[in-house]
Amino acid sequence: MQKIAVLTSGGDAPGMNAAVRAVVRRGISYGMEVYGIYHGYEGLMQGQITLMDAGSVGDIIQRGGTILHSSRSEEFKTDAGQQKGIAELRRKGIEGLVVIGGDGSFRGAQKLSDKGFSTIGIPGTIDNDISGTEMTLGFDTAVNTVLEAIDKIRDTATSHERIFVVEVMGRHCGDIALWAGLSGGAESILIPEVNVEINDVTHRLLEGNKRGKKHSIIIVAEGVCPASEIAQRIKEEAGLDTRVTVLGHVQRGGSPSAFDRMLGSRLGAKAVDLLREGQSGKMVGIQRNRITEVDFADVFTIENDIDLDMYELSKTLSI
Ligand code: ATP
Repeated sequence: MQKIAVLTSGGDAPGMNAAVRAVVRRGISYGMEVYGIYHGYEGLMQGQITLMDAGSVGDIIQRGGTILHSSRSEEFKTDAGQQKGIAELRRKGIEGLVVIGGDGSFRGAQKLSDKGFSTIGIPGTIDNDISGTEMTLGFDTAVNTVLEAIDKIRDTATSHERIFVVEVMGRHCGDIALWAGLSGGAESILIPEVNVEINDVTHRLLEGNKRGKKHSIIIVAEGVCPASEIAQRIKEEAGLDTRVTVLGHVQRGGSPSAFDRMLGSRLGAKAVDLLREGQSGKMVGIQRNRITEVDFADVFTIENDIDLDMYELSKTLSI
Protein backbone atom coordinates (compact mmCIF):
# COMPACT_ATOMS: atom_id res chain seq x y z
CA MET A 1 0.00 0.00 0.00
CA GLN A 2 1.61 3.26 -1.14
CA LYS A 3 -1.02 5.93 -0.48
CA ILE A 4 -3.14 6.27 2.64
CA ALA A 5 -5.33 9.00 4.16
CA VAL A 6 -6.53 10.08 7.59
CA LEU A 7 -9.64 11.99 8.75
CA THR A 8 -11.23 13.01 12.05
CA SER A 9 -15.00 12.71 12.49
CA GLY A 10 -17.75 13.30 15.09
CA GLY A 11 -16.96 15.19 18.30
CA ASP A 12 -13.38 16.42 18.56
CA ALA A 13 -11.22 15.08 21.38
CA PRO A 14 -7.81 16.03 22.83
CA GLY A 15 -5.19 13.67 21.44
CA MET A 16 -6.64 13.53 17.92
CA ASN A 17 -3.74 15.67 16.69
CA ALA A 18 -1.22 13.30 18.23
CA ALA A 19 -2.90 10.45 16.33
CA VAL A 20 -2.92 12.40 13.04
CA ARG A 21 0.78 13.18 13.51
CA ALA A 22 1.56 9.52 14.18
CA VAL A 23 -0.37 8.33 11.11
CA VAL A 24 1.41 10.82 8.87
CA ARG A 25 4.90 10.19 10.21
CA ARG A 26 4.57 6.39 10.50
CA GLY A 27 3.32 6.31 6.91
CA ILE A 28 6.21 8.49 5.72
CA SER A 29 8.66 6.23 7.57
CA TYR A 30 7.41 3.37 5.36
CA GLY A 31 7.85 5.48 2.22
CA MET A 32 4.08 6.02 1.82
CA GLU A 33 2.29 9.16 0.67
CA VAL A 34 -0.09 10.24 3.45
CA TYR A 35 -3.08 12.50 2.77
CA GLY A 36 -5.09 14.54 5.28
CA ILE A 37 -8.84 14.80 4.65
CA TYR A 38 -10.41 17.97 6.04
CA HIS A 39 -13.89 18.16 7.69
CA GLY A 40 -14.47 14.44 8.18
CA TYR A 41 -16.75 12.48 5.85
CA GLU A 42 -18.30 15.71 4.50
CA GLY A 43 -14.88 16.88 3.31
CA LEU A 44 -14.11 13.41 1.96
CA MET A 45 -17.17 13.52 -0.32
CA GLN A 46 -16.15 17.01 -1.48
CA GLY A 47 -12.58 15.92 -2.18
CA GLN A 48 -10.94 18.10 0.50
CA ILE A 49 -7.84 15.89 0.40
CA THR A 50 -4.30 17.28 0.83
CA LEU A 51 -0.91 15.59 0.72
CA MET A 52 0.78 15.90 4.12
CA ASP A 53 4.48 15.98 4.89
CA ALA A 54 6.36 15.51 8.15
CA GLY A 55 6.39 19.28 8.73
CA SER A 56 2.64 19.68 8.22
CA VAL A 57 2.04 17.82 11.50
CA GLY A 58 4.82 19.61 13.37
CA ASP A 59 3.95 21.55 16.53
CA ILE A 60 0.51 19.92 16.91
CA ILE A 61 1.09 17.13 19.46
CA GLN A 62 0.31 19.53 22.32
CA ARG A 63 -2.78 21.09 20.73
CA GLY A 64 -6.38 20.15 21.56
CA GLY A 65 -9.08 19.80 18.89
CA THR A 66 -8.11 18.54 15.46
CA ILE A 67 -6.11 20.37 12.79
CA LEU A 68 -8.08 18.40 10.17
CA HIS A 69 -11.37 19.78 11.57
CA SER A 70 -14.38 17.56 12.09
CA SER A 71 -18.00 17.37 10.99
CA ARG A 72 -21.17 15.30 11.06
CA SER A 73 -22.65 14.31 7.71
CA GLU A 74 -26.12 12.91 6.99
CA GLU A 75 -25.25 12.36 3.33
CA PHE A 76 -22.43 9.99 4.24
CA LYS A 77 -24.92 7.68 5.94
CA THR A 78 -26.34 6.89 2.48
CA ASP A 79 -24.95 4.36 0.04
CA ALA A 80 -24.50 7.13 -2.56
CA GLY A 81 -22.53 9.25 -0.06
CA GLN A 82 -20.17 6.38 0.73
CA GLN A 83 -19.67 5.61 -3.00
CA LYS A 84 -18.86 9.29 -3.56
CA GLY A 85 -16.25 9.17 -0.77
CA ILE A 86 -14.62 6.05 -2.18
CA ALA A 87 -14.56 7.61 -5.67
CA GLU A 88 -12.71 10.68 -4.31
CA LEU A 89 -10.14 8.46 -2.58
CA ARG A 90 -9.60 6.29 -5.67
CA ARG A 91 -9.26 9.36 -7.89
CA LYS A 92 -6.11 10.22 -5.89
CA GLY A 93 -4.92 6.61 -5.93
CA ILE A 94 -5.44 6.26 -2.17
CA GLU A 95 -5.87 2.66 -1.03
CA GLY A 96 -6.31 2.87 2.74
CA LEU A 97 -8.05 5.16 5.25
CA VAL A 98 -7.66 5.82 8.98
CA VAL A 99 -10.82 7.18 10.64
CA ILE A 100 -10.40 8.84 14.04
CA GLY A 101 -13.77 9.25 15.77
CA GLY A 102 -16.50 7.66 17.84
CA ASP A 103 -19.01 4.89 17.40
CA GLY A 104 -20.94 6.67 14.60
CA SER A 105 -17.75 7.35 12.67
CA PHE A 106 -16.87 3.65 12.91
CA ARG A 107 -20.25 2.70 11.42
CA GLY A 108 -19.28 4.82 8.42
CA ALA A 109 -15.81 3.22 8.39
CA GLN A 110 -17.35 -0.25 8.48
CA LYS A 111 -19.50 0.61 5.43
CA LEU A 112 -16.37 1.67 3.51
CA SER A 113 -14.65 -1.55 4.49
CA ASP A 114 -17.71 -3.60 3.44
CA LYS A 115 -17.54 -1.87 0.06
CA GLY A 116 -13.97 -3.07 -0.37
CA PHE A 117 -12.07 0.04 0.78
CA SER A 118 -9.47 -0.73 3.48
CA THR A 119 -10.34 1.23 6.61
CA ILE A 120 -9.04 1.20 10.19
CA GLY A 121 -10.58 3.11 13.12
CA ILE A 122 -8.98 4.92 16.07
CA PRO A 123 -11.34 5.53 19.04
CA GLY A 124 -11.34 9.31 19.54
CA THR A 125 -14.04 10.59 21.88
CA ILE A 126 -13.96 11.98 25.39
CA ASP A 127 -16.88 9.82 26.56
CA ASN A 128 -14.97 6.50 26.84
CA ASP A 129 -18.08 4.81 25.45
CA ILE A 130 -16.51 2.43 22.93
CA SER A 131 -16.28 -1.32 23.50
CA GLY A 132 -13.02 -3.15 22.83
CA THR A 133 -10.74 -0.49 24.28
CA GLU A 134 -10.25 0.36 27.94
CA MET A 135 -9.67 4.01 27.11
CA THR A 136 -10.68 6.25 24.24
CA LEU A 137 -8.51 9.10 23.03
CA GLY A 138 -9.40 12.30 24.90
CA PHE A 139 -11.01 10.66 27.92
CA ASP A 140 -8.03 11.11 30.23
CA THR A 141 -7.71 14.81 29.36
CA ALA A 142 -11.45 15.37 29.83
CA VAL A 143 -11.37 13.69 33.26
CA ASN A 144 -8.48 15.94 34.29
CA THR A 145 -10.33 19.03 33.03
CA VAL A 146 -13.40 18.08 35.07
CA LEU A 147 -11.21 17.30 38.08
CA GLU A 148 -9.62 20.73 37.92
CA ALA A 149 -13.10 22.28 37.89
CA ILE A 150 -14.25 20.14 40.84
CA ASP A 151 -11.20 21.20 42.87
CA LYS A 152 -12.03 24.85 42.22
CA ILE A 153 -15.71 24.38 43.01
CA ARG A 154 -14.72 22.62 46.23
CA ASP A 155 -12.84 25.76 47.36
CA THR A 156 -15.97 27.88 47.13
CA ALA A 157 -18.23 25.06 48.40
CA THR A 158 -16.09 24.79 51.53
CA SER A 159 -15.80 28.54 52.07
CA HIS A 160 -19.55 29.12 51.80
CA GLU A 161 -20.62 25.75 53.22
CA ARG A 162 -22.66 24.97 50.14
CA ILE A 163 -23.83 21.99 48.15
CA PHE A 164 -22.92 22.00 44.47
CA VAL A 165 -24.45 19.87 41.72
CA VAL A 166 -21.99 19.62 38.82
CA GLU A 167 -23.18 18.34 35.43
CA VAL A 168 -20.58 16.65 33.23
CA MET A 169 -20.68 15.08 29.75
CA GLY A 170 -21.72 11.47 29.18
CA ARG A 171 -25.00 10.69 27.41
CA HIS A 172 -24.92 6.92 27.79
CA CYS A 173 -21.64 6.37 29.58
CA GLY A 174 -20.92 7.62 33.10
CA ASP A 175 -17.14 7.19 32.99
CA ILE A 176 -16.28 10.91 33.03
CA ALA A 177 -18.57 11.40 36.06
CA LEU A 178 -17.27 8.28 37.80
CA TRP A 179 -13.54 8.87 37.27
CA ALA A 180 -13.64 12.59 38.01
CA GLY A 181 -16.10 12.10 40.89
CA LEU A 182 -13.97 9.42 42.55
CA SER A 183 -10.73 11.38 42.02
CA GLY A 184 -12.34 14.61 43.19
CA GLY A 185 -13.92 13.11 46.30
CA ALA A 186 -17.51 13.85 45.25
CA GLU A 187 -20.14 12.94 47.84
CA SER A 188 -22.53 11.44 45.25
CA ILE A 189 -22.03 10.37 41.65
CA LEU A 190 -25.03 9.90 39.38
CA ILE A 191 -24.44 7.91 36.18
CA PRO A 192 -26.80 6.53 33.52
CA GLU A 193 -25.74 2.91 34.16
CA VAL A 194 -26.91 2.87 37.81
CA ASN A 195 -30.40 3.77 38.91
CA VAL A 196 -30.16 5.94 42.02
CA GLU A 197 -33.17 7.31 43.90
CA ILE A 198 -32.89 10.97 44.79
CA ASN A 199 -33.77 9.87 48.35
CA ASP A 200 -30.39 8.18 48.57
CA VAL A 201 -28.67 11.42 47.62
CA THR A 202 -30.61 13.53 50.09
CA HIS A 203 -30.15 10.88 52.80
CA ARG A 204 -26.37 11.05 52.34
CA LEU A 205 -26.49 14.85 52.43
CA LEU A 206 -28.56 14.93 55.61
CA GLU A 207 -26.43 12.26 57.31
CA GLY A 208 -23.30 14.25 56.43
CA ASN A 209 -24.98 17.37 57.73
CA LYS A 210 -25.62 15.69 61.10
CA ARG A 211 -21.91 14.88 61.34
CA GLY A 212 -21.14 18.54 60.75
CA LYS A 213 -20.39 18.32 57.06
CA LYS A 214 -21.68 21.54 55.51
CA HIS A 215 -20.40 21.29 51.96
CA SER A 216 -20.92 18.61 49.35
CA ILE A 217 -20.30 18.00 45.67
CA ILE A 218 -22.68 15.91 43.60
CA ILE A 219 -21.58 14.92 40.10
CA VAL A 220 -24.27 14.08 37.56
CA ALA A 221 -23.66 12.74 34.05
CA GLU A 222 -25.79 14.59 31.48
CA GLY A 223 -27.43 11.29 30.44
CA VAL A 224 -29.12 10.99 33.88
CA CYS A 225 -30.99 14.31 33.83
CA PRO A 226 -30.11 18.02 33.95
CA ALA A 227 -28.28 19.09 37.12
CA SER A 228 -31.00 21.70 37.70
CA GLU A 229 -33.54 18.88 38.10
CA ILE A 230 -31.42 17.24 40.81
CA ALA A 231 -31.04 20.60 42.57
CA GLN A 232 -34.80 21.17 42.44
CA ARG A 233 -35.55 17.75 43.93
CA ILE A 234 -32.99 18.18 46.72
CA LYS A 235 -34.70 21.46 47.58
CA GLU A 236 -38.16 19.87 47.53
CA GLU A 237 -37.29 16.69 49.41
CA ALA A 238 -34.71 17.91 51.93
CA GLY A 239 -35.15 21.66 51.95
CA LEU A 240 -31.48 22.13 51.10
CA ASP A 241 -30.22 24.93 48.83
CA THR A 242 -27.74 23.98 46.16
CA ARG A 243 -25.73 25.68 43.41
CA VAL A 244 -25.61 24.24 39.91
CA THR A 245 -22.60 24.21 37.55
CA VAL A 246 -22.86 22.83 34.02
CA LEU A 247 -19.35 22.34 32.66
CA GLY A 248 -20.35 21.94 29.00
CA HIS A 249 -17.92 22.13 26.10
CA VAL A 250 -14.95 23.15 28.23
CA GLN A 251 -14.61 19.38 28.76
CA ARG A 252 -13.83 18.81 25.07
CA GLY A 253 -10.96 21.27 24.81
CA GLY A 254 -7.50 21.81 26.15
CA SER A 255 -4.02 20.52 25.63
CA PRO A 256 -4.00 16.68 25.72
CA SER A 257 -2.56 14.95 28.79
CA ALA A 258 0.64 12.95 28.52
CA PHE A 259 -1.49 9.80 28.45
CA ASP A 260 -3.59 10.99 25.51
CA ARG A 261 -0.51 12.10 23.56
CA MET A 262 1.05 8.69 24.16
CA LEU A 263 -2.17 6.85 23.31
CA GLY A 264 -2.73 8.88 20.12
CA SER A 265 0.84 8.23 19.03
CA ARG A 266 0.62 4.48 19.66
CA LEU A 267 -2.82 4.04 18.09
CA GLY A 268 -1.90 6.14 15.04
CA ALA A 269 1.21 4.08 14.35
CA LYS A 270 -0.65 0.78 14.83
CA ALA A 271 -3.44 1.85 12.45
CA VAL A 272 -0.88 2.42 9.68
CA ASP A 273 0.78 -0.92 10.44
CA LEU A 274 -2.55 -2.72 10.04
CA LEU A 275 -3.31 -1.02 6.71
CA ARG A 276 0.18 -1.97 5.51
CA GLU A 277 -0.52 -5.59 6.45
CA GLY A 278 -3.64 -5.47 4.28
CA GLN A 279 -6.10 -5.43 7.18
CA SER A 280 -9.45 -3.62 7.23
CA GLY A 281 -12.71 -3.31 9.18
CA LYS A 282 -10.94 -3.05 12.54
CA MET A 283 -10.43 -0.63 15.40
CA VAL A 284 -7.16 -0.27 17.26
CA GLY A 285 -7.48 0.05 21.03
CA ILE A 286 -5.68 -0.36 24.33
CA GLN A 287 -6.10 -3.20 26.80
CA ARG A 288 -3.80 -3.78 29.79
CA ASN A 289 -1.47 -1.18 28.30
CA ARG A 290 -1.07 -3.17 25.09
CA ILE A 291 -2.21 -1.86 21.72
CA THR A 292 -4.81 -4.26 20.35
CA GLU A 293 -7.00 -4.70 17.29
CA VAL A 294 -10.72 -5.47 17.40
CA ASP A 295 -13.17 -6.15 14.54
CA PHE A 296 -15.75 -3.37 14.12
CA ALA A 297 -18.42 -6.10 14.38
CA ASP A 298 -17.28 -6.79 17.97
CA VAL A 299 -17.02 -3.09 18.79
CA PHE A 300 -20.71 -2.73 17.84
CA THR A 301 -22.00 -5.83 19.63
CA ILE A 302 -20.03 -6.13 22.88
CA GLU A 303 -21.56 -4.12 25.70
CA ASN A 304 -19.41 -1.32 27.10
CA ASP A 305 -19.65 -1.98 30.83
CA ILE A 306 -19.00 0.51 33.58
CA ASP A 307 -16.64 -0.57 36.37
CA LEU A 308 -19.14 -1.22 39.15
CA ASP A 309 -16.39 -1.93 41.69
CA MET A 310 -15.15 1.59 41.12
CA TYR A 311 -18.67 2.91 41.59
CA GLU A 312 -19.05 1.03 44.90
CA LEU A 313 -15.64 2.27 46.01
CA SER A 314 -16.71 5.86 45.39
CA LYS A 315 -19.67 5.30 47.73
CA THR A 316 -17.45 3.79 50.43
CA LEU A 317 -14.90 6.60 50.31
CA SER A 318 -17.22 9.59 50.11
CA ILE A 319 -18.90 9.56 53.47
P1 ATP B 1 -19.05 11.25 19.20
O1 ATP B 1 -19.02 10.02 20.06
O2 ATP B 1 -18.04 12.24 19.61
O3 ATP B 1 -20.42 11.80 18.98
P2 ATP B 1 -19.27 9.85 16.69
O4 ATP B 1 -18.26 9.38 15.71
O5 ATP B 1 -20.08 8.78 17.38
O6 ATP B 1 -18.51 10.77 17.73
P3 ATP B 1 -21.54 10.66 15.08
O7 ATP B 1 -22.14 11.99 14.82
O8 ATP B 1 -22.42 9.59 15.62
O9 ATP B 1 -20.26 10.90 15.99
O10 ATP B 1 -20.94 10.10 13.70
C1 ATP B 1 -20.06 10.89 12.91
C2 ATP B 1 -20.40 10.73 11.46
O11 ATP B 1 -20.22 9.35 11.08
C3 ATP B 1 -21.84 11.03 11.08
O12 ATP B 1 -22.09 12.40 10.92
C4 ATP B 1 -21.98 10.28 9.78
O13 ATP B 1 -21.44 11.00 8.71
C5 ATP B 1 -21.13 9.03 10.03
N1 ATP B 1 -22.03 7.92 10.43
C6 ATP B 1 -22.67 7.77 11.61
N2 ATP B 1 -23.45 6.66 11.60
C7 ATP B 1 -23.31 6.12 10.36
C8 ATP B 1 -23.87 4.98 9.71
N3 ATP B 1 -24.72 4.17 10.34
N4 ATP B 1 -23.49 4.74 8.44
C9 ATP B 1 -22.62 5.54 7.80
N5 ATP B 1 -22.07 6.64 8.35
C10 ATP B 1 -22.39 6.93 9.62
